[in-house]
Amino acid sequence: MQTREDAQALDAADPLAPLRAQFTLPDGVIYLDGNSLGVLPSATPVRVQQVVAEEWGQGLIRSWNSAGWITLAQRVGDKVARLVGAGPGELVAADSTSVNLFKVLSAALSIAKEDAPSRRVILSERSNFPTDLYISESLAAQHGCTLELIDDPDAIAERLNRQDVSVLMLTHVNYRTGRMHDMAALTAAAHAAGALTVWDLAHSAGAVPVDLHGAQADFAVGCGYKYLNGGPGAPAFVWAHPRHADRFWQPLSGWMGHAAPFEFTPDYRPAPGIARYLCGTPAVLAMSALECGVDTVLAAEPMGGMAALRAKSLALTRAFAELVQSRCAGHGLVRVSPDEDAQRGSQVCLAHPEIAYPVVQALIARGVIGDFRAPDILRFGFTPLYTRFVDVWDAVEHLVQVLDRGAWHEARFHQKAAVT
Ligand SMILES: *Cc1c(COP(=O)(O)O)cnc(C)c1O
Repeated sequence: MQTREDAQALDAADPLAPLRAQFTLPDGVIYLDGNSLGVLPSATPVRVQQVVAEEWGQGLIRSWNSAGWITLAQRVGDKVARLVGAGPGELVAADSTSVNLFKVLSAALSIAKEDAPSRRVILSERSNFPTDLYISESLAAQHGCTLELIDDPDAIAERLNRQDVSVLMLTHVNYRTGRMHDMAALTAAAHAAGALTVWDLAHSAGAVPVDLHGAQADFAVGCGYKYLNGGPGAPAFVWAHPRHADRFWQPLSGWMGHAAPFEFTPDYRPAPGIARYLCGTPAVLAMSALECGVDTVLAAEPMGGMAALRAKSLALTRAFAELVQSRCAGHGLVRVSPDEDAQRGSQVCLAHPEIAYPVVQALIARGVIGDFRAPDILRFGFTPLYTRFVDVWDAVEHLVQVLDRGAWHEARFHQKAAVT
């Protein structure tokens, strides 16, 4: 892609291009932050309005049965399952990623305590998303384990060989670098060393092909508001391999995870399978919006599904990285996301020791929305459902102008907001 005309030609030939019409995107915005908050599907306001006015307004309490609210967690879960290589009835939408991680990591630690009591290490990466590390830190303390953080992702398999790890807890695609782990290889290494795996799919579900069964993974969680376009604070999802799902009461043993919630018995009896990973009453409005978001990804199924989305995502990220390299040379930007396709998620991250924050702000002021991740990362997410090649071209053109003209010098671009 050497010219804007090349970009337009790629868009004209793109079989996935019609999928963009599913979304309501503001005019004048190039949105490269779908890895943080996916854009609004056009179906969502209509559907939420319908749930509010008809299902709630008219149906009232009856809608728990008549509109299927009571099985929404499973219905939406089954749709997400198709995107991550899980079977029907194995995955539910519920709570937040942080809360779901608490549930599955607790379960994994409890299983490990029974099967391999001498193992006392939770292994993760120092660059993992903070909430994953904070939840792990808390659970390590509760279970009398140590949380060990590794700096070099290539050293994980080697570290497992010491035979003291009970759970390997990783985020499949790193939120800062966009580096993607080989889930099947690391899961196999963990199992060979007697450890269980917990995978966080926050930057994977709807972004890259995931095959939880193919990888023989043990547990997974993921996020609803990023590539699944579920809306701000959308419910997250949780999966346990069927070989583990019935083994342990996850610790948040709420009534929605009971085998028969409406028997109102005083004692807890966990539901079979993944349903026990539910806790309380589902957020019906948020879950309805999430369903619309997941449907926008499933709409790619007739066009090749996640494999086709992945091919376009790689082409977008490659084009962006190459254009930045050729057109922004001399400004001190360093690419931190991997060059190799197999190791790259659906984002490109650049680092600059001094001006990462103001450059991102100057881009946002021009309608090119990426984000900044402390201390030095400019992060650009590429969502093949709605990002065009011409958006890649135009975003780099803006970046070139911001850098060449020193537009980032303006004082207003240096003031830190609460959310970066
Ligand atoms: C976005 C993200 C989360 C978000 O967790 P919440 O509970 O929704 O705040 C968790 N883990 C990773 C790896 C993420 O990227």
